[in-house]
Amino acid sequence: MTEHHFIVIGNGPAGNKAALTLRDKAPDARITLISRRHGGCYRPHLLPYFIAGEISEDDLYVFSPSSYKEKNIKLRNGQQVVDVNPERREVVLDHKEILPFHGLIIAVGGKPRIPERLTVFRDLMLTLKTLEDARAWIKKLPGVDAVLMIGGDLTSFGFTKALISVGKKIYFALNEDAFWPLRFNNTLFEEVAHKLVERGIEVLKHSHLKQMTLLPDGTIEVQMGHEMIRVGLIGAFFGLIPDIQFIARSGFRIDRGILVDEYLNAGFEGIYATGDCAQVYHPELRDYWVSIGHDNAVHLGRIAALNLAGAKIQAKVAKESIFEVQGIKVNTSWWTEF
Ligand SMILES: Cc1cc2nc3c(=O)[nH]c(=O)nc-3n(C[C@H](O)[C@H](O)[C@H](O)COP(=O)(O)OP(=O)(O)OC[C@H]3O[C@@H](n4cnc5c(N)ncnc54)[C@H](O)[C@@H]3O)c2cc1C
Repeated sequence: MTEHHFIVIGNGPAGNKAALTLRDKAPDARITLISRRHGGCYRPHLLPYFIAGEISEDDLYVFSPSSYKEKNIKLRNGQQVVDVNPERREVVLDHKEILPFHGLIIAVGGKPRIPERLTVFRDLMLTLKTLEDARAWIKKLPGVDAVLMIGGDLTSFGFTKALISVGKKIYFALNEDAFWPLRFNNTLFEEVAHKLVERGIEVLKHSHLKQMTLLPDGTIEVQMGHEMIRVGLIGAFFGLIPDIQFIARSGFRIDRGILVDEYLNAGFEGIYATGDCAQVYHPELRDYWVSIGHDNAVHLGRIAALNLAGAKIQAKVAKESIFEVQGIKVNTSWWTEF
């Protein structure tokens, strides 16, 4: 494999594991890791603890730029891939540079999902996916007494706990969008609502957002169903969707994520997709499943790299651990307690 050039797009848990595994299995290959953001690889699931001041920014990181250098992995920091040409085997960066590759692993993860009906309020809502999002929360929180959480995905429960720990009053608008990517059912709904109330949170059950007004003092007046509340910040938590618009015209098969076979191959020789951005074929189900969660991302990152390096390993998930949410088959390694 001398002089082979492998590119990994995305420096999240899946991309990090893929690049390190490639280094291990293909010691002579040239490896480039392209990362939209500056800095090392960090763990997004620790962001709520960072916002609550329980850990420092340094504690978020698992792999620094200098550690990549030591591993002879070229980290292209602050560079975004805007296109992939699988036939010509080229990746196009936002500054128009074109990088040829022999093998490619796409590990670009997800971005926050905002339901269509709420996009009009987008500028008044904060999400939490990146370190930059966390910094925005940290900047705004000190001047805020009350926060409205809407949606209710798994991220929101951990984050609410962090907000309570720093003394914020929380309103939680819990409706049928809640629990992504877990299955919604009334028992779960009542159980979580009960736990939230026990923790002093005001739960607004089944009440939909009707109107938002930014007032001159910077607070936001929100009409939830028939109720009017006033808060300093609004968090939108509706789960994550794959961040893959940039390859919409590249010839990949795309549904909810990049469709890959059970070996994570994306339909072109030597091109793989992995982690939260992939939708993986399940031979027994004869259908595709979406992966969500840190441990899944690391595991799939490794499998993609091993296969690119010449192995033939299936991304196996027991049929029973796949469930359906809003018509999409999902497997999650997410750990949660509230
Ligand atoms: C606040 C929060 C809490 C969470 N809590 C948990 C938890 O408790 N348990 C759990 O299992 N999971 C949790 N998760 C989910 C977990 O973090 C994800 O499943 C995991 O990070 C997915 O890894 P990934 O590498 O596939 O994608 P990501 O972590 O999304 O990484 C993708 C990387 O690719 C980069 N990228 C994207 N597009 C491009 C491009 N075009 N060019 C270059 N780079 C690009 C991104 O900047 C990003 O760094 C949480 C997530 C969040 C945000």
